Formats: sequence, C-alpha cells, structure tokens
Amino acid sequence: MFLIFGIGHQTNNTIQLKEINHCSRCNNNVKWILSKQTSWFSLFFIPIFPYKISYELFCPICRNTIVLSKREYEEKRLL
Ligand SMILES: [Zn+2]
Repeated sequence: MFLIFGIGHQTNNTIQLKEINHCSRCNNNVKWILSKQTSWFSLFFIPIFPYKISYELFCPICRNTIVLSKREYEEKRLL
C-alpha cells in the first residue's frame, strides 16, 4: 500500500482587533491583526491533526510581530 503523508499543510486564521495599538517600529497607530497559524499532519492531502499551533499579533503596516501564548490570544480574541 502506498501512503502519501505530509507535514507542510498550514492554515491561517486572522482577526482584526477593534482596539488601536501603537507600533513602536513604524510609529503608526493602527488596528493590529490577531493570527492563529496551524500546521497540519496530512494524509492523502487531507489535514488529519494539527501538530503545531502558533499565536501572533502583528502590525498590518510593517509586519512587526509579537508572539502570544494561547491564553493571551484567547483574551485578545474576546475583546
Ligand atoms: Zn508597524
């Protein structure tokens, strides 16, 4: 039997925050983007289970990124 599996598949969920944050890098006051990036283990090109999930907050202008914990992400998401 020939199995095709991979670990390259990624999905990305982004949400724009309602609050305005200051970016220290580009010096703009903008609504930052909350991002949840999931890397999947896939079989026959179908995502089966996630093996890595990362949470980030980034400035939409210069892409200045802050890495968040899952708890921080959930808190921001509910704002
Ligand atoms: Zn910026």
